[in-house]
Amino acid sequence: MEKRKRSWAEPYKMKMVELLKMTTLAQRKKALQEAGYNTFLIHSDDVYIDLLTDSGTSAMSDRQWAGMMLGDEAYAGSRNFFHLEKVVQEVYGYSYLVPTHQGRGAENILSRILIRKGDIIPGNMYFTTTRLHQELAGGKFEDIIIDEAHDPENEFPFKGNVDLSKLEKLINKYGAARIPYVSIATSVNMAGGQPISMANLKELRAFTKKHKIRIIHDMTRVAENAFFIQQKEKGYDKKSIREIVREINSYTDGATMSAKKDALVNIGGFLAVNDWDIFEEARNMVVVYEGLHTYGGLAGRDMEAMAIGIEESVSKDHIKARVGQVLYLGNKMLNYGIPIVKPIGGHGVFVNAKKFLPHIPQENFPAQALAAELYLDAGVRTMERGIVSAGRKPNGENYFPKLELVRFTIPRRVYTQAHMDVIAESAAIVYDRRKKIKGLKMVYEPKYLRFFQAKFEKLQ
Ligand SMILES: *Cc1c(COP(=O)(O)O)cnc(C)c1O
Repeated sequence: MEKRKRSWAEPYKMKMVELLKMTTLAQRKKALQEAGYNTFLIHSDDVYIDLLTDSGTSAMSDRQWAGMMLGDEAYAGSRNFFHLEKVVQEVYGYSYLVPTHQGRGAENILSRILIRKGDIIPGNMYFTTTRLHQELAGGKFEDIIIDEAHDPENEFPFKGNVDLSKLEKLINKYGAARIPYVSIATSVNMAGGQPISMANLKELRAFTKKHKIRIIHDMTRVAENAFFIQQKEKGYDKKSIREIVREINSYTDGATMSAKKDALVNIGGFLAVNDWDIFEEARNMVVVYEGLHTYGGLAGRDMEAMAIGIEESVSKDHIKARVGQVLYLGNKMLNYGIPIVKPIGGHGVFVNAKKFLPHIPQENFPAQALAAELYLDAGVRTMERGIVSAGRKPNGENYFPKLELVRFTIPRRVYTQAHMDVIAESAAIVYDRRKKIKGLKMVYEPKYLRFFQAKFEKLQ
């Protein structure tokens, strides 16, 4: 007898719903024009399904909301801080915690402490805010991710891996003393949510130890990375997500965290380190930029929700459904023939705009144009991850990234499978009329992180 199919569904049910607003094509046209063809500038009231980001957009659980009521809003020594500290030590394994309002707050403090002018910071692909803080602190980012990561068609399962020969070249060129740390992201966002393997991390640890270079972990999506290790890496299928997360972190010296992703909260982040001296300086500096070291720009209730969210983020049922939903959408889009980054990543589906719109040259912003068209069709909001996001080098020249992508980022525990169907169908309709889509020109460009506020006009 043929094996019967067994579906699985979300490991939660709904207790409260948020009503969505439907819009007409005429309304969306107007909204898009007013937003200068930048999906970041569209009012969320004009959006039907919001896949702009998975950052701070997750649905909290009833336990997290209950935790909010246990907020201890004391200025100093809030009990929620001590709860969070304990969870960070137990689940993540780092010794010392400095809370910050979100990930970039931690990046700012860490970069100021560790980077001296002229330093080199190698990393497995840049991230927008991470690299900017490295540059503002006087450092220079160097990409050491494996070449496969820059090829959207390559199906290598661990495209987040570091190419050790690239790191070795940097050490030979600049000397290890000018490399304060290697910046390692799990679930590499800009590569399409691609994981790094445990084997690669272990090798990197051994190599950096030899040269006395620290590894700082951007652990924003470490649980999602752990899921791919469990599914795809030899020797890890019997290990729990919790165990894998601890092992990943054990090969690193400290971490910056945007808790708005993995950790299922709407705001929050932290810096966590094992080195007392770095901690001491960070604890001091956080007072200048964020708030006292036992709240770092957060309310007590935010820290409580984060502590509970971290525990939920490493549960097997959660992570399977979370990544499972992304895979469901990705496979559906593949069935429609839409060119997406493969393998499908952990937090979203990344459409290859260069292949979707081969007639639009990169300087006319194909991914930005595609995100605008996708919004127009059914009110699905995505975002550009290409030349606009890459911005300019410190010398003013544009970066021309190999990857020109539109990101369909899935918020955690927010949308249903039916929403995924609607999204894929809308993308397929836009794909059918792709030849008629035109490029854009930039008419306003902010100095920093231009993708957030830049404005465009349609080319005729
Ligand atoms: C979101 C993000 C950050 C920055 O965190 P914020 O909370 O948005 O400040 C850093 N690194 C990665 C990989 C991220 O996805």
